[in-house]
Amino acid sequence: MKKTIIANWKLNGNKKIITDFLLNVHRHLTKTELNSVNIVIAFPQIYLCLVKHIINDLDLNIHLCSQDVSYNSIGAFTGEVSIHMLKENFVKYVIVGHSERRNFHNENNNIILKKFIKVKESELIPILCVGENLKEKEMKQTELVLKQQITKILDELGNTAFDNTIIAYEPVWAIGTGKSASIEEVINIHKFIKKYIQYYTNNSIQSLSIYYGGSVNEKNIKMLSQQKDVDGLLVGNSSLNSEIFIKMIKNMI
Ligand code: 13P
Repeated sequence: MKKTIIANWKLNGNKKIITDFLLNVHRHLTKTELNSVNIVIAFPQIYLCLVKHIINDLDLNIHLCSQDVSYNSIGAFTGEVSIHMLKENFVKYVIVGHSERRNFHNENNNIILKKFIKVKESELIPILCVGENLKEKEMKQTELVLKQQITKILDELGNTAFDNTIIAYEPVWAIGTGKSASIEEVINIHKFIKKYIQYYTNNSIQSLSIYYGGSVNEKNIKMLSQQKDVDGLLVGNSSLNSEIFIKMIKNMI
């Protein structure tokens, strides 16, 4: 199975920066390199259509991801983007419940559940972000927090909730801090998540992937991506620079 790298650009970039980034990726990675890793890009939604055209023109094997979605389908919801709109614009993956949405936009587990359902119904692939903050880590509540974030979805959707789905373990204390979780921490938590879901669903879960995110860079990506319990990586800051992003892809091969 190919490992995945997701570049989560958050609120960064403009037309020129994004176009140059893709041109550099095209220039400095061979077809074989591009095809060895599943490359996914989450630029701000407004650029996704432009990006699709560039990707097609350059014949780049890159998939599109949205950083968020509305849980409403249509109507008077100023500023929102629906799952149908994302699908029409060739999006394949949708991030749901990123800690920045939880913290800065008051998204709780109920709201995240509604968004997760929308993505599942549309047959796009949800990437559910879970993770504890520093205080919860220090109070040894990591597993409790993860259980709460995951159980809400299992309770509502049952055994098939996480079929063909991605869970991203993104400890809040590791995001944008330069302090990645250790390899041991990542492996232990990924194993815990998988075991918990297997237990809850009587082992009926199919193709659940678990990714890690939080200060992944060109140095630690090799070790992280070599772990069998790590199916993919979500990268924020280090994905913004095309040179570093290209290095990271090369280091995953
Ligand atoms: P950083 O790589 O900047 O820590 O961000 C991680 C992240 O939030 C990915 O979704």
